Amino acid sequence: MGGVEAAEALNVILHRIRDIEMAIEFCKEHDDNDLWNALINEFSNHPEIVTKVLDGIVDYFSPAVIVGKIKMGQNIPNLRQSLIKMLWHYNLQGEILSSAQQIQLNDYFEIHSEIVTTQRRGQQVSNEQMCSLCHRPVLMVGTHFNCITSFECGHVYHKPCIQGKLQKNCKECNLWNLTVEK
Ligand SMILES: [Zn+2]
Ligand SMILES: [Zn+2]
Repeated sequence: MGGVEAAEALNVILHRIRDIEMAIEFCKEHDDNDLWNALINEFSNHPEIVTKVLDGIVDYFSPAVIVGKIKMGQNIPNLRQSLIKMLWHYNLQGEILSSAQQIQLNDYFEIHSEIVTTQRRGQQVSNEQMCSLCHRPVLMVGTHFNCITSFECGHVYHKPCIQGKLQKNCKECNLWNLTVEK
């Protein structure tokens, strides 16, 4: 249903069927600002719908906009209860968000400590392993290749092979990352 059609449908619900709950549900279904504004504009003629709309729009539309539409001196039945209910809802939402944040923070520290533990773990290098750059055995007796650089990923390099290249990252894993990104 397009914008004009939806606006007409809302008009029918408001003025012929005269069912405010149905109108609120209709606005939620389409979640369109123009429709919400059309509904709110009904306030000037029908102050009794303000509280129904306030109760219905939580999580969909900013209550501040609705409250802003109430005219000075306008008498709104049950406005006080409705506002209290709404504030409780936001209060509850605030508590849920703050608990969720605490859980996330705990998770973060737990994962971070796992990473640090993993990174501090010793690396074994056997003489069957190959240098990922020159593809010769990483441990060779009596040559200048015997100094090696080892990364957490398990890849090892002869120091002379990796020298001059960036030693911050494993060359082999960088290549692999590039292949995956393509
Ligand atoms: Zn090498
Ligand atoms: Zn690697």
